[in-house]
Amino acid sequence: MSSDRPHPRGPERPPHPATVVQPSGRPPHPATVVQRAPAGRPPHAATVWPSRPAHPAHPAAVAQTRAAQGPFGRAPQPIAQRAQEVPKERPLLHRLTPGVAVLLLKDMKSGDDFVKFIGVQIDKILETEVGKEILAEFNPKNGGLPEVDGGKEEGKSKGKYADIRLVICPVEKGGTPLHTRTFGGTDAGTGKPYFGSNASEQIPRIDIWDVNLGNFDKAGRVITKNGIEGHPDKPKDDPVWPFDVVMFHELCHAYLHVSGINAAIAKHARYGVVEEYFVTGLAEGIGWRYSENTYRGQIKMKARTNYQEQGIKSPEAGEFVWGKNNKSKAEIFKALGLDG
Ligand SMILES: [Zn+2]
Repeated sequence: MSSDRPHPRGPERPPHPATVVQPSGRPPHPATVVQRAPAGRPPHAATVWPSRPAHPAHPAAVAQTRAAQGPFGRAPQPIAQRAQEVPKERPLLHRLTPGVAVLLLKDMKSGDDFVKFIGVQIDKILETEVGKEILAEFNPKNGGLPEVDGGKEEGKSKGKYADIRLVICPVEKGGTPLHTRTFGGTDAGTGKPYFGSNASEQIPRIDIWDVNLGNFDKAGRVITKNGIEGHPDKPKDDPVWPFDVVMFHELCHAYLHVSGINAAIAKHARYGVVEEYFVTGLAEGIGWRYSENTYRGQIKMKARTNYQEQGIKSPEAGEFVWGKNNKSKAEIFKALGLDG
């Protein structure tokens, strides 16, 4: 395990050049318009690396397309015609930043919109110091990450994941809409993902509800393009949790996987709860840099102080000055009675 890995580096770390973005040549789809724009945060440009070679559109063609578009940026079309627009051999893996990719479901109709939507969230996250740092942790060139096993499971994908350290996927039917686990790549032929207990299954995989399909409503909690509405842990004046906050939370789970911390805390009797201490920055996790609360601090949102589902109440997280004072892994492990 790489649990002796140094603590995540602080703000003195130079920004990572993960963010080179190539224009796609197409007008942004309305699905990518995300509404929250807190004061002082500049609007950001388009998002993801194109999955196909970029075709620079002829200006005349652009003008024609724009003229044909309605107020929502796209002319209404019959469903059948729209379905035909989906390329049959769509690339399933779309790289966002080094080591980080979106993995689409096979035959997914809203795939392009999903890739762009996730790209918008990643762009927002990259506007923060802690966002740049955590995404750089998934860059295989930065070292320290476990090698992806080229063996039994991942081998079937023909090495497609050799330089991938995190995949973000639309949740499959019946799956949990916001969930991070690990997997072992996909079958090169069928696209079917591998799960199970094989040691090679160490690529963290974030499953995200595909908001292009509509809202997801679970027990009064609504997931939309804006984020989560009606979350039981929301402070009174914080009705919507922006999607980038939700996404950052899942990145924190993914970091625990690639850093080996998860393997160490799995030995704790209250594993799930302890994992959320780190990920949210509650209880013993107050001061942990790669936490939802650090991100909230950096985008000037109130700290989260509860995780009801896990029975965690931590009002002191609201008093902490987030994003400055970091607590090391060793300190937190010691407080939890865990071996480093
Ligand atoms: Zn969580």
